[in-house]
Formats: sequence, structure tokens, C-alpha cells
Amino acid sequence: MLDNIRIVLVNTHHPGNIGSAARAMKNMGITQLYLVEPKNFPSFEASQLASSATDVLKNAVVVDTLAEALKGCRFVCGTTARLRAVKWPQVDGRECGELIHNESKRHEVALVFGRERSGLSNDELELCQTLVNITTGEAYSSLNLGQAVQVLSYEILMASRKDEVLKVQDEPLDEKDTLASNDQLEGMYNHFIDALTDLNFFGKRNPEHIMRKLRCLYGRARPTQREVQIMRGILSYAQGRRTQTPEK
Ligand code: SAH
Repeated sequence: MLDNIRIVLVNTHHPGNIGSAARAMKNMGITQLYLVEPKNFPSFEASQLASSATDVLKNAVVVDTLAEALKGCRFVCGTTARLRAVKWPQVDGRECGELIHNESKRHEVALVFGRERSGLSNDELELCQTLVNITTGEAYSSLNLGQAVQVLSYEILMASRKDEVLKVQDEPLDEKDTLASNDQLEGMYNHFIDALTDLNFFGKRNPEHIMRKLRCLYGRARPTQREVQIMRGILSYAQGRRTQTPEK
């Protein structure tokens, strides 16, 4: 539930980063922005960088403390550019996307971002149940604030999409669109042998070798009953039979 997700920016120094964050959020379908003591807001620069996401800026909630921004949230994830030797659970960006998405199905959740120079303080991190660190190359682990918002918003959207795909896959399929059974595949392989013999395809070729390769190919493809039927229709056609393919 993307509507249950708030992005919280703490003490942002550069207004451009607020605009970039708003754009990144809207691109990924997230709209609730909370700003804790922004240095300069509203501002021309933020609106410029937000581009078509100025509605996110217009609806942003400005508060004095992080605790106020988190009111009503039942799960809070704090971001950090450094892996910290701390007692909090830490996840990477991908895991964060799944975690936030799953939690947001039931209640309001927040993803908190820190100051450009110093990140989040330990007191602020104490308000978070989990920390997230976006995996980076070793030489430079600190992303631009707007880009960190982009990466994590993308992961959240992808996690929610994956759920949708799984739901579609759970829906009952037409019988013909379910996987072909072993005996249906055997029927197709035998049909291949007949057809390729009729067509004099084997010639000097080794039929066993060819058939083994075809088994490998169809084993990887895992065709449906409908696909096997089409394949057999093609073989019949090649054999000069234009009638319905026999079942076995
Ligand atoms: N020097 C600061 C860097 C702050 S970067 C520090 O070491 O904490 C500004 C903000 O962008 C961070 O507070 C965090 O919210 C986000 N950010 C930047 N890089 C990140 C990363 N690799 N993983 C998670 N969040 C990151």
C-alpha cells in the first residue's frame, strides 16, 4: 500500500534535494512527504527540481521534530550511509523494499532520511526499528540524498509489483495453459521422430543425439499443453497432414 508510506527528510540543507526527493517519490507512486525542520522550504529551487511533482511539495507536512513526523506510524526504517556497529537490525535496499511494502499492507510506515552532511543522529536512529544501508562500491558509500530516496522508492515499488505478479500467477489457469504432462511430452517427442523421419531430416545425422537435444530444449522451456498442441500441429502440417493432431 504505497498510500501508507511516508518519506521523512530530516533537516535537509539544500532545497534542491527536497525537490529531487519529491520527484523520485512521485515517479515511484509514493506521495506522502514529511519535512522535519527543513533549512529552506518552500523554495523556488525545490519546485524546479520537483518538476511535475510540485503537488508532493504542496502537500508536504512540515514539523519540528522527527517524533512528530512519525506519529501514527507502526514501523519505522532509518537510512544510513555507513554500516554501523549497532544493536539495530540492518537490511540492504532490496530487503528494505520488501519490508516496507509488507508492513505497509497493515499500517502506516515511515522511511527516514538524514542530513546531507551528518546523516541521522543516534537519538534519531533510536526511533527506528530497522536500519537500511544501500549497497555501494567500497570507495564512496554516501549517495546524494535525492538519489537515496530514488533507489529505495524504486525498491518499494518493485516489491509491490512482485506481489501483484504473484497474485496473478495464483489465479486458476485455463487447463490448456497448464504445463504439459510427461506423457504429452513423450507423445510430442515420438511425433518429432515420425515427422523428421518422414521428412528425411535425419539422413546422416544421429537421431538419438538430435532427440536428446530436443528433450533438453523442451525440458528448459517447460511448454504448456497448448504449446505442445501447436508444436504437434506444425509437425503434422510438415508431414502433409492438415487434419487435427492426434492426442498421443
Ligand atoms: N555523511 C553522512 C552522509 C549523509 S548522506 C553519513 O555518513 O551518514 C544523506 C542521507 O542520504 C543519509 O542520511 C541517508 O538518509 C541517505 N543515504 C546516503 N547514502 C546512503 C546509503 N548508502 N544507504 C542508505 N542511505 C543513504
